Amino acid sequence: MLINPLTQLTEEEEMFRDAIRIFSEDKIKPLTQKMDEEETFDSDLLKQFFKINLMGIQIPEQWGGAGGSFFMSILAVEELSRVDPSAGVIVDVQNTLVNNALLNWGTKKQKSQYLPQLSSHKVGAYALSESGAGSDAFALKTIATADGNSFLLNGQKLWTTNALEADIFVVFATVDPNLGHRGITAFLVEKSFPGFSLGKKEIKLGIRASSTCEVILNDCRVPNENVLGEIGNGYKVSIETLNEGRIGIAGQMIGLADGALHFAIQYSRERKQFDQSLSNFQAIRFQLAELSTQLEAARLLTYNAARMKDVGKPFIREAAMAKYFASQVAEKITSQAIEILGGYGYTRDYPVEKYFRDSKIGKIYEGTSFMQLETISKFILSKKD
Ligand SMILES: Cc1cc2nc3c(=O)[nH]c(=O)nc-3n(C[C@H](O)[C@H](O)[C@H](O)COP(=O)(O)OP(=O)(O)OC[C@H]3O[C@@H](n4cnc5c(N)ncnc54)[C@H](O)[C@@H]3O)c2cc1C
Repeated sequence: MLINPLTQLTEEEEMFRDAIRIFSEDKIKPLTQKMDEEETFDSDLLKQFFKINLMGIQIPEQWGGAGGSFFMSILAVEELSRVDPSAGVIVDVQNTLVNNALLNWGTKKQKSQYLPQLSSHKVGAYALSESGAGSDAFALKTIATADGNSFLLNGQKLWTTNALEADIFVVFATVDPNLGHRGITAFLVEKSFPGFSLGKKEIKLGIRASSTCEVILNDCRVPNENVLGEIGNGYKVSIETLNEGRIGIAGQMIGLADGALHFAIQYSRERKQFDQSLSNFQAIRFQLAELSTQLEAARLLTYNAARMKDVGKPFIREAAMAKYFASQVAEKITSQAIEILGGYGYTRDYPVEKYFRDSKIGKIYEGTSFMQLETISKFILSKKD
């Protein structure tokens, strides 16, 4: 039996990856530093994401998407993040959280209404976290009160990625706090709904071009038909989408680690000290070899988790391991890349300090590293010999 190496791509996947690599180098790279400094994502660039179908990778063609696999979404996030991890997370949230929530849980009507918009011109966002509900996400306080043929949502969401650009929000609220997690319900909320507004935009350490804002719901009226999944089933919607989303974050981390490592390798060839290239020093060569090995291991975990999702096998443990390990490796590679560049690496004249800042978020969002270890340990300890 022929077993393909996990990192081997099909012809179609290879063409897809190469096209995004060229796009990222040509269109994103010239804007990356400016967008980071201005903490704004270029709106024309976002329009180009829609034009080349990056915002609806898995959406079937009947709704205007590319009809691709989950693995292709991860490849796209990886490639974009190689040049700009902010671009990576915008595409990640759209595809792995918002589009997938709709594909997995949406009614026929919701799909035919929202998926064509999401694949052609509207950005989506995913609003679960609150000030008192982070790792303990189901302690959320946003309340949804039934009012005739709609619900009134009241509460405040924190940390919503893509909020500034988004028109469509997947919002989680409880219909009855006494029901615990069984009261949690997902809603499709449009920016234009009465009672919806954005609050503070966060000033961040990294992924600064990606917007992160408060979402304020003040008697926000949402029609009953915009309940996503069933009432009280929101905890399932969120757990299942975040399990998939985690693989996207692993993709973001391996992409940015690859970008930083690639730069450090090139630099080590060009920079001369003691009349020779840095890459002649065994200390540098061994660091590059060690980091490349770690990156390859992280990529294998990530691709494996994505492939398992695509073939319909359980992947929760694999997704947690991929995100946990890839974010650890990304932090290490980007940090050492700065050292390989020496003083130059510490300045904004070179891109590695940005990769380092951007890497830190991998250990925090879509479940912190401790939460991933919780998930992994549950699997290990539940296994009886
Ligand atoms: C830039 C950014 C973008 C984000 N985007 C989104 C988004 O789009 N949508 C969304 O809903 N949320 C988003 N988040 C929120 C993110 O998912 C949370 O920040 C994350 O889940 C952690 O929650 P917290 O910040 O409240 O930290 P806490 O939950 O307060 O955790 C603080 C520390 O305590 C540890 N800890 C907590 N509980 C335990 C435990 N039981 N055992 C061991 N350690 C524990 C954590 O690991 C962490 O180290 C984003 C956050 C950031 C910073």
